[in-house]
Amino acid sequence: MAFETVKKNLEARGFSVSTFSTAAEAAAYLDSAIDGTTVGIGGSMTVQQMGLHEKLAAHNEVHWHWTDGPEVRAKAAHADVYITSANGLTENGEVINIDGAGNRVASTLYGHKRVYFIIGRNKLAPTYDEALWRARNIAAPKNAQRLGKKTPCAVKGDRCYDCKSPDRICRGLVVLWGPSMGVETEIVLVDEDLGL
Ligand code: SF4
Repeated sequence: MAFETVKKNLEARGFSVSTFSTAAEAAAYLDSAIDGTTVGIGGSMTVQQMGLHEKLAAHNEVHWHWTDGPEVRAKAAHADVYITSANGLTENGEVINIDGAGNRVASTLYGHKRVYFIIGRNKLAPTYDEALWRARNIAAPKNAQRLGKKTPCAVKGDRCYDCKSPDRICRGLVVLWGPSMGVETEIVLVDEDLGL
């Protein structure tokens, strides 16, 4: 996939951008770029697929609630570096995330010196409406299914039913039009399907 257009548009918004053909190359890059610091990681199938926690934990202080338990969320929120993915990315350079607990989206906005979004090609959509549709109707139902939530979307993982369930995982939507002021934000684009 040609990333030229989205890269140009992301850079025009103030994001740093790096591009990789494979997840393995992206993981090696992040493993060398992030060293001797504190790292928080948001819930992310992408990060899990890349084995990034294991790599980074060998030479950083890493906090990830998926591996270390829910109590490390507060430590993750105060780490110098934060890593997550996105539920959707528009060709125009808007980064879309839906969250339930809010820790992941909050950390993309505030509290860290540097934020990395690792985004596979499957997250890219031509327009805002299509990227939001993807986040709501592909990523969220599959996440609800993965988490075993009692929501209508989790039965088949087919689409969003805009449920009012107590188990609803879609509680907030954050769209980054650019990096938050004072937060160095890098988009790591990977030309492979990654995450949900
Ligand atoms: S709003 Fe409800 S139905 Fe829609 S994706 Fe989220 S959890 Fe599923």
